[in-house]
This record gives sequence, structure tokens and C-alpha cells, in this order.
Amino acid sequence: VKYIFVVGGVISGIGKGITGSSIGMLMKSRGYDVFMQKLDPYLNVDPGTMNPIQHGEVYVTEDGFETDLDLGHYERFTDTAFDRRSSVTMGQIYSTVLAKERHGDFQGHTVQVIPHITNEIKSRFFREATPNPNKTTICIIEIGGTIGDIESQPFFEAIRQFKHEIGYQNAIIVCTTLVPYIKASGELKTKPTQQAIRTLQSVGLRADIIACRSEVALDDEIRDKISLFCDVPSNHVFDNADVPTVYEVPLILEKQGIAKAILESLGLQDNVVPNHVR
Ligand code: ADP
Repeated sequence: VKYIFVVGGVISGIGKGITGSSIGMLMKSRGYDVFMQKLDPYLNVDPGTMNPIQHGEVYVTEDGFETDLDLGHYERFTDTAFDRRSSVTMGQIYSTVLAKERHGDFQGHTVQVIPHITNEIKSRFFREATPNPNKTTICIIEIGGTIGDIESQPFFEAIRQFKHEIGYQNAIIVCTTLVPYIKASGELKTKPTQQAIRTLQSVGLRADIIACRSEVALDDEIRDKISLFCDVPSNHVFDNADVPTVYEVPLILEKQGIAKAILESLGLQDNVVPNHVR
């Protein structure tokens, strides 16, 4: 199994879910098996008890699990039915660890965020390889919230440890950021992206791919600037400009070559793409 972690910088609501789903669709169209997961930092055990006006609709999986609405995007974009394994909340992680503590499983050790919470997080990452030895499963894991949130720190530490354990070519990080457009001066600004990438570096992670949400398409100058300051090749900087419908996002990312960049980073072959996604 190869892993793509999708994380978000600057602000939330800029298309992490849509970017992850689009990548899932592009990988599936190349013949890879795709599994998607959402890790949410909130302490509710599942979103079933959360106010839909505040948080959005609850999405119910085939096995009856109440999950985050992003699961709906994942299923529609990849045309795959997921189950309870795809929805992990910090509430689930803590309640499992606390139940184990009460049961005496930790044998007198002090129960801590590292290693107990981070180990529980890592144990939730999808690990099932396909039975076909010639096929690779790509697991796409989206982290809710933004980099730097207090409550999501254990997720980032778990990812750092996991990358170290499984090898750097087996797990990459896609970071979505906001590139604001200042109308009065007609300029796109890269500073929020630079700061997001620095925050990511401060927890020991570097972005392999940057997907920039912007009102207008990025020009080469902006791409080169992001490349230089954020330490990624300029052909690993993509724009996710506003489009009339989210179903166009896989197409605009495909045109810019995101699948090639991802597959190269993961050391996988870029298979032939059927015409309908061109
Ligand atoms: P996040 O996961 O970062 O919170 P989402 O992926 O849920 O963000 O996207 C937030 C909102 O933005 C959604 O309503 C989605 O429909 C919309 N959206 C995402 N990407 C685009 C785009 N390129 N053009 C227009 N709307 C978009």
C-alpha cells in the first residue's frame, strides 16, 4: 500500500476534500485500487451527534456508520463504497485508548499522547494490500482542520513516525493552501502558502505536492516563487482555481499533470489514462 496524506494550510474550506477525491479519481482511472480515509481532530466520537447546520450533513456508509460529509465526495468521485474504517475521529482514538487503560492493557505504564495516542492513530491507517500481487493500493488520507491546530498535532506526529517507518517513497504529502488574489493591485500573494509550509516543516514534515486554491490561475512566476520558498519542484505546484462545478477539479488537475507528479513521487508507474478523463 502507498499513502497520500492530504493536509491543509492557511484556512479550512479551500478544497482539501475535493482535491483528495480528485486525486483518488485520477489514480483509480489509472487502474490503481483506491481506499480513502478522513481523520478528524474533533473529540466527538462520530459526527452523528453534531449539528448539521454547523457541520454539514452526516454521511452514512453502507455498513451504517455515521461519518463526515467528505465521505460522500470520496464515494462519488471514486465510484467506490467505503465503510467505517474510512472515518476516524480523535474522539474514537481517545475513547479506545482510555478503554484500554481502564482494562489494564498498558500494564502500569503512564499513558501518553506519544506513544499511546499516536500508535492508536497509526493502527487506523488502512493496510490491506490487494490479493493481486501486481496491483498496488493507494490509500488517500485527509486530515481535517489545518496544520498548526492544537488538536490535530497527534495526527501530524503519527504521520511523521509512519513515513519514517514505511520509507519516504511510500508516503507523500499533498498540501492544499490558499493563494489570495488582491484585486486592487491585481496580485496573487504567496506568503500564506510559505507560512503554511513552514508550519508543516516545524512538525517534521515536508510537502511533496502543493495544490493552491486561488480565484485565478497561477502564472509561472508565482509557481516558481512557491517552488523556491516551499522547497518543492515547480512542476509539483498546482492550481485549483475556482470552477463552476467541483466535478471539473479532477480535469484541471489532470491537465496540469498532478497524477504524473504523484506517481513519480511514490515510485509508481503512470498507466495509460482512458479518454474520458483527458
Ligand atoms: P476542505 O476539505 O478544505 O474543508 P472542501 O474540499 O470540503 O474543503 O471544499 C470546500 C468547498 O469548496 C466545497 O463546498 C466545495 O464544493 C468547494 N470547492 C472546492 N474546490 C473548488 C473549486 N476548485 N471551485 C469551486 N468550488 C470548489
